[in-house]
Amino acid sequence: MKAKYDLVVIGAGPAGTPAAMAAAQFGKSVLLIDKREAPGGECLFEGCIPSKVLENAANRYDEVLRAKQFHIDESSVQIHWEEVLKDKEEIVAKRSKGALMQFERLPTLEFVQGNAVFDDAHTLLVDGTPVQFDKALIATGAKTSFPPIEGNGMDKVWTNRDVFFEKELPEEILFIGAGAISCELAQMFNKLGVKTHILERGERILKRVGEEAALAVQNKMIEKGIGIDLNVQLERVDYEEGRFSVLFNRNGESETLLSSHVLMATGRVANVDGLNLEKAGVAYDRHGVTVNEQLQSTQAHIYACGDCIDAPKFAHTATYEAGIVIHNMFAPMKHAVNYDKNSWVLFSDPQVAVAGLDEAVAKARGMEVTTAKYDFVQDARAQLDKAAEGFVKFIMDAKTKVIIGVEVVSEDAASLSGEAALIVANKMTTMDVMKAIHPHPTLTESFGRLAQQVFFQSMMRPKRG
Ligand SMILES: Cc1cc2nc3c(=O)[nH]c(=O)nc-3n(C[C@H](O)[C@H](O)[C@H](O)COP(=O)(O)OP(=O)(O)OC[C@H]3O[C@@H](n4cnc5c(N)ncnc54)[C@H](O)[C@@H]3O)c2cc1C
Repeated sequence: MKAKYDLVVIGAGPAGTPAAMAAAQFGKSVLLIDKREAPGGECLFEGCIPSKVLENAANRYDEVLRAKQFHIDESSVQIHWEEVLKDKEEIVAKRSKGALMQFERLPTLEFVQGNAVFDDAHTLLVDGTPVQFDKALIATGAKTSFPPIEGNGMDKVWTNRDVFFEKELPEEILFIGAGAISCELAQMFNKLGVKTHILERGERILKRVGEEAALAVQNKMIEKGIGIDLNVQLERVDYEEGRFSVLFNRNGESETLLSSHVLMATGRVANVDGLNLEKAGVAYDRHGVTVNEQLQSTQAHIYACGDCIDAPKFAHTATYEAGIVIHNMFAPMKHAVNYDKNSWVLFSDPQVAVAGLDEAVAKARGMEVTTAKYDFVQDARAQLDKAAEGFVKFIMDAKTKVIIGVEVVSEDAASLSGEAALIVANKMTTMDVMKAIHPHPTLTESFGRLAQQVFFQSMMRPKRG
């Protein structure tokens, strides 16, 4: 480590790593610091990548078990969990090694393992060693937010930091919370034959997902035997003789569920404790570091992005923000973040892909919107795949027909997420979408069909006056 850098970046996840690399490409001297010995962040080690490796294996196993419908004998299929875990380790190691090799090509970038805390507005202490900086980026991510629940089991429950390291599949697992993390993992374990149950305080699962899409996932879970208890208040989590005893309250009545494993996924809270942000004069609250729309903190030369700010918590959103930060730090023109074009995929069954604004959010902002839906039941590709459930929905500005949001529910919604993101980011109208010639038979035809449907309906509608 040198005594001074143009930029110090705290956290080497999907926010910090691309930011550090971009600044080094600009020729700036950059110190990238992470508590872990390798770059990648929560996304690589305990988030996106491990969850998707395991889910991928579970989905393929499940597909083979369902292959009977394509006249394939599935009778002797087995899954070797320990080999799946080895695959996960290999992919994680390959990706972090790949990042380190990219760093080597950037002579002004230095990566160090260590704990960074602020000493003042221009000094960090990295494992106690002072380092001066001109600019800093806080990209420290988030962790599971634990509700204040009593019981001797609370320090034994799993979070995403434990679940991907178990050598053996659990017999049963109880998820607390029904957000994206729980739903993806519950369906994965269910496909592998693990008895799975979810407790949720809200009246439905996936509160950040449109209601129709969330219900499609909820119904599939129920059909596959995942237990779901909604509208419950968690009261205690105890652990005795190798089993958790989870006490909850529903409509004033106490109930107990027993399970060998409990996974807590009750929301995420920014990793800002212990950074000594007060010493740097950087404001924060329980949602994370306070930033303006250029991602500057209350100290103009210190920026923050990724899961440690109050914004959508996705790896690609963190990377998008990193681009904005580096631009705003070092280029003359300043850019503001625009989450109205954010997109994401829930790797559930069926999958849900979203781009842009949700209907409820648009209406809450006072926008006049109209929606149109294409049902996959009529779709050639979906029929061929024997997966004719789900839909594509456009959320449009009622007057201009600009598509401000797209929602897809399908076994393969992820494959449509790129087009959905492009439509929204480019503020395309249904006419624009109609100009593309979508290949047959693919699920992407649904976009063209839906655009045509909207166009012909508007032609047939009697004109006013
Ligand atoms: C189970 C799970 C599945 C997910 N799946 C997806 C998915 O499919 N798609 C998707 O887009 N997103 C997914 N996410 C979310 C995604 O992982 C996060 O949005 C992303 O990791 C945020 O990136 P980040 O760089 O802000 O933070 P992180 O990836 O959390 O990285 C922050 C880094 O900062 C380091 N750090 C923290 N404090 C300090 C300090 N004081 N000193 C030094 N280093 C420090 C940490 O060690 C960490 O490596 C998932 C998350 C979970 C938990």
